[in-house]
Amino acid sequence: MPPGLERKMESFKNIDSFGRVHTYLRVSVTDKCNLSCRYCAPGARPSPCSAKKNGGGGLALPEMLEFIRALGAMGVEKIRFTGGEPLMRPDIEQLVAGAKAITPVKKVCLTTNGVLLENKAAALKSAGLDALNVSLDSLDAGRFRKITGSDSLAVVRAGIDRALGLGFKLKINAVALSDLSFEEVDGFVKFAAENRLTVRFIELMPFCEDDFAKTAFTPISRIENYLTQRYSPGRASIDGVARNYRIHGGAIGFISALSHPFCGSCDRLRLSSRGILYRCLFDSSGLDVKTLRDKNREELPERIRRFLTGKKEFHGISSAGPADLKRVKNSMRLIGG
Ligand code: SAM
Repeated sequence: MPPGLERKMESFKNIDSFGRVHTYLRVSVTDKCNLSCRYCAPGARPSPCSAKKNGGGGLALPEMLEFIRALGAMGVEKIRFTGGEPLMRPDIEQLVAGAKAITPVKKVCLTTNGVLLENKAAALKSAGLDALNVSLDSLDAGRFRKITGSDSLAVVRAGIDRALGLGFKLKINAVALSDLSFEEVDGFVKFAAENRLTVRFIELMPFCEDDFAKTAFTPISRIENYLTQRYSPGRASIDGVARNYRIHGGAIGFISALSHPFCGSCDRLRLSSRGILYRCLFDSSGLDVKTLRDKNREELPERIRRFLTGKKEFHGISSAGPADLKRVKNSMRLIGG
């Protein structure tokens, strides 16, 4: 144990044995989704909604807020609602408003595929949502359909326009796949500049079928090298887990959990839609906080504190190349991307 850590661990409730203080909770509010992206879950196709089979709509609103409150009391200050598709939860606005009302929580954010955003954006704004990430893997309708299994590109773009019109701070996430062309990267640069927003390319993580991961994987450095040579944007700035380059008034970022892991500064915990708390996106088991809700409620903070102490130093998923990508057993929809 590093010197001084023992004392630090006595004063912080949200610290692990590597000195990482956990202030960020990502909550998967449902494992239902209205898209079936090729990369998202093993067996994502043909069914667009794995939750239909397991009946998993997620924890009820009061329970979810109770866990957020418990984690807030331990030092969590930022919440991100994700899924599955969080806008498929009919009570998502109440969840946002409820989380905002929890005093230690300073920031509430949400990640969506944007399909339902046009109709929901105003209510989310009124509920107090601080920031939005919208997933948009392609600006080309054909490629969008190939990746997501859906024809909803125009609907997603309308949702983005609506959110921007309401003044939302917005980031776009695009998973970088091997068929992402440099022409399309240029299209995203233009899109970012025109809308004064950040587009972040995310390296594919192995949550999908082995065959897809191996053929669709592309190192994020392929896109980053192209971009820096083509636009000479200067040095990247670091924004959380992303390296961002400013270009023509917009920004392009790169996130690579595998080739540039950010485990050393990880401040994240994850609550799954079934009430399991995970210390890492790549974990296959976690702490079932549901079982602590009734008679063991007062044990919750101490159990979470002890659980956090056992967090591994590194996620342990190697990325020497596509052949080395070992499929992660858990579903991204359940644990929340
Ligand atoms: N449905 C919402 C959405 O699409 O944004 C929220 C859930 S989704 C699991 C969250 C993010 O995880 C999305 O940006 C998605 O692209 C990303 N994601 C899912 N599977 C991934 C994978 N195998 N590798 C990298 N990113 C992935």
